[in-house]
Amino acid sequence: MERVDSVVVGAGVVGLAIARQLAKAGREVLILEAEASFGTQTSARNSEVIHAGIYYPSGSLKARLCVRGKDLLYAYCAARGIGHQRIGKLLIASDASELPKLAAYARQAAANGVSLQPLSAEDVQQREPAIRAVAGLYSASTGIVDSHGLMLALLGDAEQAGATLVTHTPLLSARIAAEGLVLDTGGTAPFRLRCRRLVNAAGLHAQTLARNMAGFPAAHIPPTFYAKGHYFTLHGRPPFRHLVYPMPDEAGLGIHVTLDLGGQCRFGPDVSGWPDTPDYRFEAGLEEKFQRAIRRYYPDLPDGALHAGYTGIRPKISGPGAAAGDFIIQGPGQHGVPGLVNLFGIESPGLTACLALAEQAVAELQA
Ligand SMILES: Cc1cc2nc3c(=O)[nH]c(=O)nc-3n(C[C@H](O)[C@H](O)[C@H](O)COP(=O)(O)OP(=O)(O)OC[C@H]3O[C@@H](n4cnc5c(N)ncnc54)[C@H](O)[C@@H]3O)c2cc1C
Repeated sequence: MERVDSVVVGAGVVGLAIARQLAKAGREVLILEAEASFGTQTSARNSEVIHAGIYYPSGSLKARLCVRGKDLLYAYCAARGIGHQRIGKLLIASDASELPKLAAYARQAAANGVSLQPLSAEDVQQREPAIRAVAGLYSASTGIVDSHGLMLALLGDAEQAGATLVTHTPLLSARIAAEGLVLDTGGTAPFRLRCRRLVNAAGLHAQTLARNMAGFPAAHIPPTFYAKGHYFTLHGRPPFRHLVYPMPDEAGLGIHVTLDLGGQCRFGPDVSGWPDTPDYRFEAGLEEKFQRAIRRYYPDLPDGALHAGYTGIRPKISGPGAAAGDFIIQGPGQHGVPGLVNLFGIESPGLTACLALAEQAVAELQA
């Protein structure tokens, strides 16, 4: 049977960052990816925003790893020539009823060590003449990143340090054995191998994979919820220079304005649907809902300017109406299986936090 020191399951931005970190630490690393290429799932279906760390409860992994990950990511992008821009973000209150929420986010951001500048209605107008708001907060440390370029650089670093990516190769099951773990893959050429360390960074499928690990205590597997979001693109030249976010909604950050590095503007993601299995179909009939939400802060949105874009699915551990869960990075100290780390619920801000998540996951393996 083949033997390898470390296996990382999933070549999304998080798995690639972990593989890079392990390979750079001198480990022999194999990355198993079910799809035909790296980074085709959640890591390719998001807003590409480098989040500041405003919303997350104090002391949570989301708060700590977002703030640390943001700094690491800006430095990494600069060092590796990855497309990015510190474009800045306006968080806005559309009417007086939202002012207490805005004030609460200002306090939360301060507690998380994130500096924000308060904006009056006039300040908002000055920065973004097309936006109507009664007040806002400006986050200078929010930015955008080329997520594909980021993943390419992470994979390049990992490979340069000796890691190997194998695509078309889903990990189907694992068995906890005396000396590590025995893995069985699927795909066109299934094989069995033994490893000392296994990192489950399978994103939307992390819980399914954990359930397929014989001997893994089921009590440590959180529930799985998929919250689907849609994006519409704006036809023509965008009237915005910054990212613009309304108040967050139940399971997301609200239908917001993002700009990509090519200057294209998109709106989203909404929260529409909690499918039982990941399903990227773009639902029909959402345009009116988007227009209504967008016109609360951008009243001049022209009719017919929105075009169906794409969808993404949030890998959540809490369901509709429940408070958002934290990231879960579960090592031997929690579940008792030597050499195994599971990552669950790596929704937003997982892109921002990828390098910090990698630090934490590798530390769990060493603990
Ligand atoms: C709509 C939306 C918007 C977002 N916006 C932002 C944002 O602006 N900023 C931000 O910081 N974060 C954002 N996020 C979060 C961010 O995109 C994710 O946290 C991040 O991409 C997760 O990366 P990942 O590697 O864990 O998962 P994925 O990218 O899903 O990668 C997991 C990989 O594992 C593979 N896989 C699954 N099962 C197996 C198996 N059994 N064997 C082998 N391979 C397997 C999959 O094919 C996939 O390639 C957003 C998320 C969503 C859904």
